Amino acid sequence: MATFSERLDELRRWLACRRRVFALTGAGCSTASGIPDYRDDQGAWKRRPPVMIQAFRSQEAVYRRYWARAYVGWPRLTTAAPNAAHRAFAAWEANGKLLRLVTQNVDGLHQRAGSRAVLDLHGRLDIVVCLDCGARTARSALQAALAAANPGWQAEASTAPDGDADIDAALIESFAAPHCERCGGLLKPDVVFFGENVPRERYVSAFDALSRADALLVAGSSLMVYSGFRFVKLAHEAGLPIAIVNRGFTRGDDLAELKIEDDVGATLTAAIVTN
Ligand SMILES: [Zn+2]
Repeated sequence: MATFSERLDELRRWLACRRRVFALTGAGCSTASGIPDYRDDQGAWKRRPPVMIQAFRSQEAVYRRYWARAYVGWPRLTTAAPNAAHRAFAAWEANGKLLRLVTQNVDGLHQRAGSRAVLDLHGRLDIVVCLDCGARTARSALQAALAAANPGWQAEASTAPDGDADIDAALIESFAAPHCERCGGLLKPDVVFFGENVPRERYVSAFDALSRADALLVAGSSLMVYSGFRFVKLAHEAGLPIAIVNRGFTRGDDLAELKIEDDVGATLTAAIVTN
C-alpha cells in the first residue's frame, strides 16, 4: 500500500501534465462546510432517501413537510462557508488548467469560493421556481414570506444536503406551506429532485466541455447517482485519463487510473494550492 504522500505525489504528477481538466464534484466537497453527505463509505443511504418529485407534486402532506424542513434548514445553509476543497478548485481555475467544474451540489459554495467555470448540474437551492407558471424568485425572499406566514412557528432540526431537516410531525401539520404569489401554484427549489431529469441544456453544455477536456477529476462523489457517473463512463469510453479523490468506494473506481481515498480538501490543497 502506498502512503498518503506517495499517492499525493502521484496526483501531482497526474495533474502536472493536464491542461484542460473537467472536474466533477459531489457532496463530499461540502461536508467540511457542515452540509452532511447522503451516503456512507459504501454508497448506501445514511438516512431516509430524499423527497421524490411525484410525491412532492401530488401529496399535500409531502409538500408541506418538505417546506417545513426546508424553512428550518435554510439558515444553516446560508451560514455555511466554503472550505479548503472549494478554495482549491477556485485556485486551480485561476491558474488556468481547470476547464470546467461540474458540481452535483446545490449549495453554491464553489461560486462563493470564487469559482466561475461552474455548472450546477442539479440546480441551485437559492432560486425557487413555480411549477405552474414558471416564475423564478429568490429563496431568501420566500424565507421571509414563510416567516411572515408562520409567526411563532419554530423547530429544532438537523439538516440534509438539499436543505431538508428532521422535525416533529405535529409541528409540520401546523406549518403554512408556500404558494406562488402570482398564480397560487406549487413552489419548488430550482434543484433536480429524485425522479426528475437534469435539464437537457445542462448536459449539452457539460458534454461540450468534456469533449474538449484532456482529463477527468472526480472529487467528493460516490458516483451513485447516474447523472454524475455518466461523465465518468463517457470519459472512459473516450480514452480520457480519470482520477478520483473520495473517502470510500465510488462506482467509478474500476475506470480510474488514480484513486485517492482521503479528505478532499486536504488532498486537493496539498496537490494544487501548495504544489
Ligand atoms: Zn406561479
